Amino acid sequence: MIDFRSDTVTKPSPGMLEAMMNAPVGDDVFGEDPSINRLESMAANLFGMEEALYCPSGTMSNQVAIRCHTQPGDEVVCASNAHVYIYEGGGIAANSGSQVRPIEGDFGRIRAEQVEAAVNPDDVHKARSSLVCLENTSNRGGGSCYDFSEILRIREVCNKNKLQLHLDGARLFNALVARKEQAAEHGKVFDSISICLNKGLGCPIGSVLLGRKEFIRKARRIRKVFGGGMRQAGFMAAAGIYALEHNIERLSIDHGHAEALASVLGETGFVNRLFPVETNILIAQTRPDMPAASVAGLLLKKDIQVIAISSDQIRFVTHLGITESMMDKTLDSIRGL
Ligand SMILES: *Cc1c(COP(=O)(O)O)cnc(C)c1O
Repeated sequence: MIDFRSDTVTKPSPGMLEAMMNAPVGDDVFGEDPSINRLESMAANLFGMEEALYCPSGTMSNQVAIRCHTQPGDEVVCASNAHVYIYEGGGIAANSGSQVRPIEGDFGRIRAEQVEAAVNPDDVHKARSSLVCLENTSNRGGGSCYDFSEILRIREVCNKNKLQLHLDGARLFNALVARKEQAAEHGKVFDSISICLNKGLGCPIGSVLLGRKEFIRKARRIRKVFGGGMRQAGFMAAAGIYALEHNIERLSIDHGHAEALASVLGETGFVNRLFPVETNILIAQTRPDMPAASVAGLLLKKDIQVIAISSDQIRFVTHLGITESMMDKTLDSIRGL
């Protein structure tokens, strides 16, 4: 099987496993796990942010951040297809008692003018606008990346309206590699950033939440409330350290693979339209007479696994488990369909 369903299917490499086996560990709820402490300071340094908090999942990092930034009854501004809104089990309502102001984005990217128009006036009828969440790259937008200049414009709107700005950076490293941007530039702009280690970076588990000292102090308390205070999780954090040291630059290989897939898929009869490919995600719109589930079924017969993410869209995600020979086989199979 050649698995393009998600970059979460990656398994630890021998080098990563060795780093995990040799990790020094302690009780992290006591603040005594040297591997977690090292991962948190590495990540904070990389982004030029004050502190960091290791969390079991990206969902928890996002939800902890949203809880920190909001009060019950507040409104969170984000794209209508944002992960925090559509893929976190209603967590904004359940965990923070806040509601969402969804904005129709351009492949998941929202613009400063849209944010400005969505901010509620100070009026007792209205929810208090307190937080803007951006997603870079955008998962449902097909791995699209923000222009950094637009992020800066959104920051200005946030400053003017006293809004916090959170980045769901589950795949931020894909954006940084694709756009040749620096992590520290992003660290300067956002009040908080969550990054995933369990996606393209190839770790079995883990996410890191970044922010100012006071914010992380509050986040550490909320992580405990959510049940995310872990003990000797340094075995997992060691995988994260290994990933930050070895698996970032290689993301460009995954991006090349997604482009190669796009070039052959565009020539097949069952695809109507391809989303623009910027990183490691490729979303293909299938023809009206070819439901996405049937196309996924055809591919599965050739040992290629993809996800039908809607009735007329299939998604390929490339990752470090996809080798050159798997790519050759996949491209041949698609040409032969
Ligand atoms: C995967 C993902 C997350 C978090 O996922 P977990 O599986 O909880 O780690 C958050 N945001 C986006 C955009 C994602 O793709």
